[in-house]
Amino acid sequence: MNNHTVVNERFKGNDRGDVKSYLNFIDGEWVPSVSGKFSTNVNPATGEILGKAPQSTKEDVDRAVLAAKKAQKSWRLVPAPERAEVLYEVARLLKERKEELAQILTSEMGKVISEARGEVQEAIDMAYYMAGEGRRLFGDTVPSELRNKFAMSVRVPVGIAGLITPWNFPIAIASWKSLPALVAGNAVVWKPASETPFIAGEFVKIYQEAGLPKGLMNLVFGSGGVVGNAIVDHPDIDIISFTGSNEVGRQINERAGRLLKRTSLEMGGKNAVTVLEDADLDLAVDGIIWSAFGTSGQRCTACSRVIVHEAVKEELEQKLVKRIAELKIGNGLDEEVNVGPVINRSSLQKIDKYVKIGIKEGAKLLCGGKILTDGELEKGHYYAPTLFTDVKPSMTIAKEEIFGPVTSIIPVKSLEEAIEVNNSVEFGLSSSIFSRDVNRVFQAMRDFDTGIVYVNAGTTGAEIHLPFGGTKGTGNGHRDSGVAALDVYTEWKSIYVDY
Ligand code: NAP
Repeated sequence: MNNHTVVNERFKGNDRGDVKSYLNFIDGEWVPSVSGKFSTNVNPATGEILGKAPQSTKEDVDRAVLAAKKAQKSWRLVPAPERAEVLYEVARLLKERKEELAQILTSEMGKVISEARGEVQEAIDMAYYMAGEGRRLFGDTVPSELRNKFAMSVRVPVGIAGLITPWNFPIAIASWKSLPALVAGNAVVWKPASETPFIAGEFVKIYQEAGLPKGLMNLVFGSGGVVGNAIVDHPDIDIISFTGSNEVGRQINERAGRLLKRTSLEMGGKNAVTVLEDADLDLAVDGIIWSAFGTSGQRCTACSRVIVHEAVKEELEQKLVKRIAELKIGNGLDEEVNVGPVINRSSLQKIDKYVKIGIKEGAKLLCGGKILTDGELEKGHYYAPTLFTDVKPSMTIAKEEIFGPVTSIIPVKSLEEAIEVNNSVEFGLSSSIFSRDVNRVFQAMRDFDTGIVYVNAGTTGAEIHLPFGGTKGTGNGHRDSGVAALDVYTEWKSIYVDY
């Protein structure tokens, strides 16, 4: 059985004589959208049609919210350790189906299979972690200021969580949001990205198989403009947890703000690796290659700037160009491939537009800089891993998120200048430093203005037990993983007992 056969077998999940089609999941049932319409999805590596998912409407969202509301009323009364039992089962099923899920993920959005396995593993880790939190939803007891009084705080669920997720980490990010929401006693209405409906359908099947009571996880496929807006505007959805672009995040914040609705927004990045003159350059090259070109640069934490001390700039450039030439590009289901396709044609064109702007603004192209169309690549959406040098912090390619396999070398004269350049962008997600000097490393750890800092590693690879998110234009102060994620999905209640 080849890889595609494995993938196609799974797509039969909810078909009605119509192979590879998904339905919405509302109130514990797989149901069609009231629109009766579907959109089709293709494999970005091959252009093959993979299947179809409903184009839902506001009415579908209304039905999902109604179910969620009803289900949450009793779920909030289930003891948290008991709610956590479902999450342990989710973890077990994810683990059991890891390879199959990874193959669906790669076919659907293109990341190479080893990275897809890593992404499913993140969801597994998150499920175990949040199941554990079911026994640690701690509040505080505090000494009262008065006699015969008992003072304490407890965490209570917010109510209904509306989750809106992107295509680049379609199962990991969905797990970062849905697992804490559910263990904390909320119900969920989830709209996955239009580009990745199938992995979403499979994840929801796992919740179903794990025994999550009906109505707590509702999946509504459809466009951001229709389904996303309906979720944001719905008066009975209490919190919107969004990951995606700044443009959409800002719109959501405005709309939800009018309803005084809580939002957790995780948005773009313009992450930098800093390489000082005392760095282990081979280690730095490993970190840069992995974080600039992994997932074809389509990670919020992708390294899209390399800030390098001028003393080692030339040597670093040579090493990077050599390593880039060795990268194998192609269909991510092939174990030998290092860089897969980008998500779709418009993304390909957007990346190419940025590269042309870079050249026009005076950056020097060291390699890449073109859409790949040789042989089989012609069927998919492939961009050559691209390296610019002599980039100035004021150039467009050094400021805006490109979201493709493009990175830019920016030379500097000192650590202080590197920190200034690192912090000069509107985003604040991730930064990294390569150096053997512990004093300078600690200075960078203190002064990098980002939510995540790496030392002697690239800008990607967060672990789920620490908070994940960014400062400035990347987020609005919430975090997607670690215990901090529970702050998004709970309210504090303070209780005073006189006796
Ligand atoms: P996107 O275009 O903003 O879409 C994200 C989600 O929002 C999708 O489900 C999308 O639906 C939906 N959406 C679109 N318009 C909407 C609207 N008007 N109202 C409500 N929802 C709407 O982002 P993307 O291209 O999927 O993802 C890439 C971006 O995500 C990058 O900027 C990346 O940096 C960021 N990201 C951030 C993090 C982080 O943790 N900080 C992690 C991963 C990705 P459709 O798919 O139907 O358009």
